[in-house]
Amino acid sequence: MVNSAASFDSSLWSATVAEPAIETAPLAGRITTDVAIVGGGYTGLSAALSLAEVGTNVVVLEAEAFGYGASGRNGGQVIPGLKLDPSEMIAKWGEQRGRALAEAVGNAADAVFSRIARHGIQCVPKCGGWIQAAHSDRALDRVIRRAQDWSAFGAPVEVLSQQEVTRRIGTREYVGGWIDRRAGTLQPLGYVRGLARAAIAAGAQLHQKSRVLKVTPAGKRWHIFTSNGSVDAAAVILATDAYTDGVMPKLARSLLPVQSIQIATTPLPQHIASTILPGGECVSETRQLAFYFRLTPDGRLLMGGRGSIGEQESEPLYAALHHAMRRLFPQAALLPIEYRWSGQVGLTLDGLPRIHEPAPGMFIGFGYNGRGIAMATLMGEWLAARLHRGIEAPLPNTELSPIPWHGLRKPVIGLGIAWAWTKDRMGIAA
Ligand SMILES: Cc1cc2nc3c(=O)[nH]c(=O)nc-3n(C[C@H](O)[C@H](O)[C@H](O)COP(=O)(O)OP(=O)(O)OC[C@H]3O[C@@H](n4cnc5c(N)ncnc54)[C@H](O)[C@@H]3O)c2cc1C
Repeated sequence: MVNSAASFDSSLWSATVAEPAIETAPLAGRITTDVAIVGGGYTGLSAALSLAEVGTNVVVLEAEAFGYGASGRNGGQVIPGLKLDPSEMIAKWGEQRGRALAEAVGNAADAVFSRIARHGIQCVPKCGGWIQAAHSDRALDRVIRRAQDWSAFGAPVEVLSQQEVTRRIGTREYVGGWIDRRAGTLQPLGYVRGLARAAIAAGAQLHQKSRVLKVTPAGKRWHIFTSNGSVDAAAVILATDAYTDGVMPKLARSLLPVQSIQIATTPLPQHIASTILPGGECVSETRQLAFYFRLTPDGRLLMGGRGSIGEQESEPLYAALHHAMRRLFPQAALLPIEYRWSGQVGLTLDGLPRIHEPAPGMFIGFGYNGRGIAMATLMGEWLAARLHRGIEAPLPNTELSPIPWHGLRKPVIGLGIAWAWTKDRMGIAA
């Protein structure tokens, strides 16, 4: 069995990325800065870029390489919004805050695409829309309510009939769905490397191969230690999401890292490519244990689904994902799988991201539940605005609260998967 970490280099994204790898030296010696950021994914680099653009001195410390976490491995589906729709956000947080949050998360994909354009990031951005495809009549009811909710909020969304979903996706699997035209696709590793390049150009100091071992308060400042150096900073941002290690045990116990696996075929011949997502949309299903898929910039069918519990990859789960791909798209059944890889998704119990300030000068953002391209980019901007101008994010700041049964997470996630499988059989939407 392969360790999930090892599969970074064998991913399609590593093989096809146009943005060059960023060369940086590991941190050495002692430096002083305004803000130190731990983690070089979308959250950390988006915050670094926003802060450097307003003249803040910022240092980013990444344990491995930029994009080594979920940001360089994901499915590349840029989806706006949260698990909750606008009326649910308003019901939960009140008219003013709920509306502001819906506005911000609704515009999050646009913000990603405009950042890419502004910095000339080579990541094949395409605003082709996202289809959420309903696997049952019950799920379709939920999907229709979601579309109505966002439509009433002014978003460019539409309900799709069974016939329309079948035509657009190229499979008879679904009973209908909705399309959100604000969404799109990109090459995820190219995007994260482009953010790093832009942050350096704006004046940020970035270090790879610089794993943070300890973060300690020092009067009103923070000391951040790696094996070869340290940073003395007025503020620190922890942006490690599902790749959080032991540097702050309370944070590690506050989220559930869950593996997702992906496979990509060889490029589709034209006569098959014309039958699968010819409009360039990306798709996720309404199943709890959902499959998600898209065509890649070089014309492959890419599909993702649930992985194993823990770091090791599972052969039977890769086989099951390939089986599902052949069932959904029999026209592509004979195409070999050329790439496969996995990564860890950071889940929270209520499916919502988290923003915390556990101590003066310490800021944390994580928990995108598989929707982090747009949301982690936005989180980075929120954290930067909070630090630089004291502006509170529309997503309320909450107390860092470890999950009580975190030590038993493997058996509990196993039970959760069994329960999700049952709900899928009953046609209940995620
Ligand atoms: C397989 C998969 C498919 C996905 N598909 C999609 C999708 O299609 N659309 C979507 O929107 N989202 C998707 N996601 C989710 C999305 O990728 C994440 O939500 C997002 O990348 C999180 O970004 P981040 O910067 O917070 O964390 P990460 O990108 O995980 O970055 C955290 C970084 O912190 C570093 N780190 C950890 N500990 C330390 C330390 N002690 N010192 C220094 N550095 C440290 C890690 O090395 C890592 O690089 C997917 C995720 C996975 C795994």
